[in-house]
Formats: sequence, C-alpha cells, structure tokens
Amino acid sequence: MTQNAHPVLAGPALWSAQAHMPSVLERQLVIERGEGSYVFTTAGQRLFDATAGLWHANVGHARPELAEAAHEQMLRLETYHIFGRYLNDRAVELAEVLAGLSPIADPKVILNSGGSDAIDVACKLARRHWQIEGKPSKSTILSREFAYHGLHAYGTSIAGLQFNRDGYGTESLVPETARVSTYDIDAVRRTVEEIGVDNIAALVAEPIQGTGGVIPPPVGYLEGLQEICQNGDILLILDEVITGFGRTGHMFATERYGMQPDMITFAKGITSGYAPLGGVFVAPRIWERFYRDSDDTPIFRQGATYAGHATACAVALRHLDLLEDLKLLPRVQELEVVLQAELASLEEIEAIVETRSAGLMAGVALRDDLSAEAITDALVSDGFITRPLRGNTIQLSPPFITTDDELRELVGAMKAAVLAHD
Ligand code: PLP
Repeated sequence: MTQNAHPVLAGPALWSAQAHMPSVLERQLVIERGEGSYVFTTAGQRLFDATAGLWHANVGHARPELAEAAHEQMLRLETYHIFGRYLNDRAVELAEVLAGLSPIADPKVILNSGGSDAIDVACKLARRHWQIEGKPSKSTILSREFAYHGLHAYGTSIAGLQFNRDGYGTESLVPETARVSTYDIDAVRRTVEEIGVDNIAALVAEPIQGTGGVIPPPVGYLEGLQEICQNGDILLILDEVITGFGRTGHMFATERYGMQPDMITFAKGITSGYAPLGGVFVAPRIWERFYRDSDDTPIFRQGATYAGHATACAVALRHLDLLEDLKLLPRVQELEVVLQAELASLEEIEAIVETRSAGLMAGVALRDDLSAEAITDALVSDGFITRPLRGNTIQLSPPFITTDDELRELVGAMKAAVLAHD
C-alpha cells in the first residue's frame, strides 16, 4: 500500500513536530500547572518531574518570585531591541553579571532566545573568525557522535544523533561538518589528522552528553580535546545548554573539568525556563577583532528582535539571585551523592546494564530486550516523568529543589517498573 493510502489522523492544531505523530497522538499529556518539582495534567494527574521538563526547570515550577520579576519588568518596558545603537538596561545588566560568572576571562556575552540559537551563533562566529584571521580554509565544524545541539540549521547539521540529520537531501544542511568519537580520544586525533587542522574551524562538545544518553566524559577525554584544539588552533566551543548554571554542582561544567574553551553556549538553566533565553560567552581572542578602533573593523552580522529580551533578562537576573539565595549549587552536590548511591543499588538489577551520572543528571541503560519507552510509559502511570534516550537509556534529571526522599522514591519506582517488565 502506498503511503498516500493511509488515513490521515486528526489531532490538536498544535503540531509538536519532534515526534512520530501516529505514535504520540493517543498518548499526549497536556500539562496545565506546576508546583515545585511536580506538574499537573489537564486530566488531573500529579507527576513528579524527574526530567525537569527538558533539563530546564532547575528551581522547580511556578515560583512567584520569577513571575513577579516578569510582571514588574513588563509594566516598565517589555523589551527593546539591541541592534547596536540601542540597548536595553536589563540586557546590559545581565551581561555584566554573566561576565562575572563566566569561566572564560574577560568575555563578551551574546544573548538570544535559546540553546539552538546559541549554537547557530557560536558556529557562525567560529567560521567568521577564521575568515577575518585570513585562514578561510578553516571552516569545518567538528562535533561528537551522539551529540545534540538543538535543531536549528547548525544544530541539525552538527547533530551526532544521525536521525536528526537525515531527510534533508544533503549530508548536512550547512556544509562542512564532521563527527568525532565520543569515547576514544585517539580516534578523535585520527579524524582531526584526516581532515587536517587547516580545514577545521571549531570543535563543539557537550561536557557531559545529555540527549545522547547521559555520557560523562571518559577520564582524560576532555583534557585530550583541549590539547587537540590548542595544538591545531581549533576553537573549542563547549555546549553548556544543559550543564550551565548548576546542574553539575558547579556554575559551569567547564569549571568542574578545568577546561579553557573559546566559547560557551548556555540557555535552559539561565532562567530555569521562566523565559526563553540563551547566549554565548566569547573569549577575547575572538571578540577583540570586532572592537578595534578602525574603519575597516569587521562586523559580525548576527542579531534577532528578541535577542537580549528585557523581560527574559529581568527574569534571569532574579533567577540567578534565587540560585544563590536557596544555595542550590551546594544542594546539587549533596544530591549527586544521594543519586549515586541510589544508582548503585539499581545496578544490582540484572536488567540494568549500566548507570551513568554526573551532578544531577543520570542515564539508566537497560538490557536490549527491555524497552526504555515502555518503562517510561509505566512510570508515568505511577506518577513520574522520565524520558527514553538513545541507547535504551532512561533520563533522570530532577529539579535542584528535589528532596533526598523524592530521589529515593523515584529510583524505587524505577526499580519496580524495570522488575515488572523483566
Ligand atoms: N544544546 C544542548 C546540549 C541541548 O541539550 C539542547 C536542548 O536540549 C540544545 C542545545 C538546544 O536548546 P533549545 O532546545 O533551547 O534550542
């Protein structure tokens, strides 16, 4: 039967496009309310949000302080664009605060609306950098197998999850990209040699791979990447869209692993999702070119109406205070210990092949004959939102305000669900 002979299914007008529609239409849950680490569906179910949405709801849901920050700002000024001559005071203030937090010394801060935006900007800027430096052949952007960097044109093109690249007719939407190994630093070295450092603009890496299955870096791997980049004059872009602002118990994973990137992308955790916001920290070796006092100083043509959106920036400023006031970074460090102990108990189950974690993000990999999808479905019925990832892995990344007991209940529910399916 041809594809056209199948009936077209109905459904809500909202096309949640990141899904196989026939598989999800009957199972979609509509969230209408949140409270701390819990969300509530329109059908009245209360669910523990063990993924913090898409790794974003770090301070928990529906906090009045952040709603007030948005309300106050909107009454004063919703936003004003920042296209050069004009700025808005909130974006200026936030960038100053962020520059103080950045692991890159003396950075410039580019603001936009999310993680995919940030990746597009960082990759574009890497290519622009080498054009200006008079090395136009340095144009290839390297990324890692299993990587996820959002789904704009660059994110799609550098995706290490092949299904996110497929179906657009060319190997990559944006030309000149290549993948390197996620586990084996010698293999990375070989790929870089094959392509040639004269052809490579930058290497993009999540310090801890998230959507690819929660893969913390093997010992020595990140140090190896740093060395390869330094030796080959390759810009190192660390994608901290998940790890930024505390998920590893450090403000940035860059600090946890002692890295020295040239750019860092961030999003989610800067506002815990209370407003769409993302951005890039840029090192002086890149931004200084654009700030020289000369008529022929180049321009980085990059911007968007909502870049540095004043209300989003006001929310981010209040949110950064909240992280501090609630002492959430040290709290994540405590939770990491509890989580690791709980994961160790999961590993005693034969159906669980491996658990991987760093900070408050974990992946639980199941034996091939079990289905992560089926178990996450069962967990929803039991009141827990988890998420299947690549490699038959289940994602756990609860909000930072989770209690020790909630973490234990979550892992207990998971244990029971896995045993029931075995
Ligand atoms: N980079 C990483 C590492 C991510 O995990 C994500 C989203 O999950 C993105 C980029 C894209 O961010 P956004 O969905 O805000 O566009």
